[in-house]
Amino acid sequence: MVPIIITMDLEIAYDHSINDQRKILDRLNADLKRIGLPITIFTTSEAATEFKDEIRRLKSAGHNICCHGYDHGITENYRTMDQCSINEFIKISTNNIENIIQDKVDSFRGPGFSTSSETQNILLKYGYNSDYSVCSQRLDFMNSIGGNFKWLNSPRMPYHPSEHDPYKKGSSPLWVIPLSSIGLPFISGSLYLFGLSFMRKFYILLLKEAIRVGKPIVYLFHSYEFCRYTGNHLGNEITKGSNRTPQKLIHKFYGSDINKKYEDNHNLMKYLISFKNTKLFTSVNYSKHLENFENENTLL
Ligand SMILES: [Zn+2]
Repeated sequence: MVPIIITMDLEIAYDHSINDQRKILDRLNADLKRIGLPITIFTTSEAATEFKDEIRRLKSAGHNICCHGYDHGITENYRTMDQCSINEFIKISTNNIENIIQDKVDSFRGPGFSTSSETQNILLKYGYNSDYSVCSQRLDFMNSIGGNFKWLNSPRMPYHPSEHDPYKKGSSPLWVIPLSSIGLPFISGSLYLFGLSFMRKFYILLLKEAIRVGKPIVYLFHSYEFCRYTGNHLGNEITKGSNRTPQKLIHKFYGSDINKKYEDNHNLMKYLISFKNTKLFTSVNYSKHLENFENENTLL
């Protein structure tokens, strides 16, 4: 059985219609319900506040709400921030999201996949059990603010990180669950660049490896990708002077047909769970699965 973990990053993209970003959450909720798909949603604290009602509806529909940091601003890089700022951002964001969903937040993904040993130690302090901020063997690491050449050598299987290096195995009780990648990351950006039939073939390759070594497959998309691009990255429909980074050049090649992106993404997700030997997990279920597996192996 291959665990499939579908993840969505939810941040406010000020260069896209904010109204669309609110509406898309209910549309996703309805469509995911139709295909019986609970997913793992990494939301920024800012997006959780702004889309409070939508997030609560997603939570009651069975989706797992996790933390994607505070507001995805330019300075919010968990790879480079000092310990004090990391602690503040994680403390405020965790409290806020937990307050909104009235439940514990168990997993974290840093904005732009940024993380560090300090971050992981602080995550443990606030009760997290997994960090989804590593893309092992992703070649285009420079396209993410948290990108690190160490990704090229980091484990492809879920691992306990070293207390001094988030990209190496060690004895921290935290789990790192890497995003699936074979040079190219298994994300919606790759879908928009190369198309649905390419992504299906990509998935089959990942599936073969996963069956052989017992690893999960982790996919990522963003909700703002299905919303109209305004180009106004300093737009202040909600907060004046947002400091979110402008859209990266590569996004210009993703195409502008947001309905096609939505349909392709929806069809890919359906395809991911259409195989008999796969099982869909949310991050919270997957952590339990890993714990059980570890306990059984300790007992042997
Ligand atoms: Zn993000």
